[in-house]
Amino acid sequence: MLKVAKFGGTSLSDSKQFAKVKRIVEADESRKTVVVSAPGRRNEKDNKITDLLYLCHAHIKYDVDFDRVLDMIKERYIEIRNECSLNIDIENIIEKTFEEIDKNTSQDFIASRGECFSAMLMAEYLGYQFVDAADWVTFGYDGRLDYRATEEKLKDLQGIYERIVTPGFYGAYSNGEIKAFSRGGSDITGAIAAALLRADVYENWTDVSGILMVDPRIVKNPKTIARVTYDELRELSYMGASVLHEDAVFPLRVKDIPLNIRNTNDPDNPGTIIRESFEEELEEENERFITGIAGKKDFSIINIYKNRMGSAKNKLLRDVLELFEQYDIPIEQIPSGVDSFSVLFPSDCIKTKKYDLMSALRNHENIDSCDLSEGISLIAIVGRQMAYRAGISGKIFKALGDNNVNIRTIEQGADEINIMVGVFTEDFEDAIRILYESFAI
Ligand code: ASP
Repeated sequence: MLKVAKFGGTSLSDSKQFAKVKRIVEADESRKTVVVSAPGRRNEKDNKITDLLYLCHAHIKYDVDFDRVLDMIKERYIEIRNECSLNIDIENIIEKTFEEIDKNTSQDFIASRGECFSAMLMAEYLGYQFVDAADWVTFGYDGRLDYRATEEKLKDLQGIYERIVTPGFYGAYSNGEIKAFSRGGSDITGAIAAALLRADVYENWTDVSGILMVDPRIVKNPKTIARVTYDELRELSYMGASVLHEDAVFPLRVKDIPLNIRNTNDPDNPGTIIRESFEEELEEENERFITGIAGKKDFSIINIYKNRMGSAKNKLLRDVLELFEQYDIPIEQIPSGVDSFSVLFPSDCIKTKKYDLMSALRNHENIDSCDLSEGISLIAIVGRQMAYRAGISGKIFKALGDNNVNIRTIEQGADEINIMVGVFTEDFEDAIRILYESFAI
């Protein structure tokens, strides 16, 4: 049994968090591969080490003294080293690293040191082997991950060391130059390690006990989703539920590795399991039919009218879509009627182009009239249990209607795991609360 356990920044923010990580790793001997982020914020006013490192880079680049920022970074690691009673000479390692840095040192190299120092400390603390991410995560010169080289190197290392701690967030080109993933990229490192080592599970330890059914800023203490499929997760994330780095999902899906989101501060909580599919559905999940609800504000609709549109509709649709393409406005939905259709899109994409686009539409020879309405919000009701079951949308619309929420648009994806409704933005929070209270509890 092999578990790859990735710990995020808040799980490593100070020595107390380090101690929690150690307890978690030691509680299960299959947690053999550990991936760590850089120390994150200890409280709201605190700084993430990665942010401080980006700041260092900016200072170095513009020849501004960066001693104060570097001291803040050193203090954080020294505190962890001392309080965890470790021997590693971390101040010397940090000082040496920065002595060798100059104006030409890349931002990625400097930013990546956060996870590197973090992994060095954690390796000693756990008694695991430190393995630098630059020694296995390999990028091609096109900037994309070279899976084959990465797999070979990781497997070689696995053959030598049974238990490793490796930094997340970066790797190297084959010439050794460091390249970082985008922010939050330690999730990707963990996912790649889990996929390449064919781990039984990839544990992503963070500061929440899994994925919540709904935004806690809208519904107080919502339930956690126990099990969700990757397709459902994609629908929820697309609509704003932020869980983990999007690129982390791909390697896991391909190898069907279950992903378990866990809370370092509440290790007994089983968290959320994400998989391609579940062999058996639990009775409770069957009854509930909704896995999660997510939503996004600030959409606009342009309604297009043409009397007796009939067969002219195809061409008119094409012309309108071409205009949207020309103006670079991403389309979210195209609800359509007999003599009209509408185009729904994010409001901020039209700001500077509003008048030009509207006048282009008004001047179109086949459009009788058109209007723009703003202040629309979209709500996605997601659940694999909704697929091919009669009566679900009826229940959803009835709950909203009974509570006087007017539905502006309706859409269902082809796989029937997502029903999306557009409502006026002033009804957004209420609509989400109504849906949650009616169907999620
Ligand atoms: N430390 C990096 C960041 O803050 C990467 C990560 O934590 O995943 O974005």
